[in-house]
Amino acid sequence: MRLKLIYTALFIFLILPIRGCKNEVIAPSIIEYDCRKDINSTLIPGTPGIKIKSSRCSDYIFKPDKMSAAINLFVEKYSQKFDLKKIDVWNSLSDLTIEVSIIPRTVVNVYDINGKFLKKETPVSGLAFNEKLIWVEIRTSQIWSSSLIHELVHIIIWRSNGVHGDPDHEGTQFSGWNSKHTKLIKDINIELLELDI
Ligand SMILES: [Zn+2]
Repeated sequence: MRLKLIYTALFIFLILPIRGCKNEVIAPSIIEYDCRKDINSTLIPGTPGIKIKSSRCSDYIFKPDKMSAAINLFVEKYSQKFDLKKIDVWNSLSDLTIEVSIIPRTVVNVYDINGKFLKKETPVSGLAFNEKLIWVEIRTSQIWSSSLIHELVHIIIWRSNGVHGDPDHEGTQFSGWNSKHTKLIKDINIELLELDI
């Protein structure tokens, strides 16, 4: 049932152009992906070896050039916010694999943004599996509504301490994530929305 809804939503997004206030058409940032025709993973241009792949053989992925724009914006804003050199932020993301899918996932034993531990099966829009692999759900046809930027923050934290990506976010069990990270994610996603990405 949920799957059917997703496909219907996707159909609407793909077939009917979404009209904004000024009647402009928002171009989707996703493309269809078929493992029988396309190669296993795609290098994102303008990044140090960051790759995108789909969870399923027949799926959707974010367009590599849109991903490149989103990640470049993230690196710029992150380095400004935390007073870091851009090259150091890039190094903290190098060779990352970003797996994406239109099919949602649920997990048990996960923390919400405030650090609250959720034991029951909980739907998630993204996951950081380890310091080299994240998963991001394609929720609409645009990157701003996905958890991409959020998961990139987990990776930066993970690679800086070498042990964990601060799974409880602003909670007190793990350290690394603070309210500045949460605010930055919100600001970047608003900017991506304005850029139609
Ligand atoms: Zn998280």
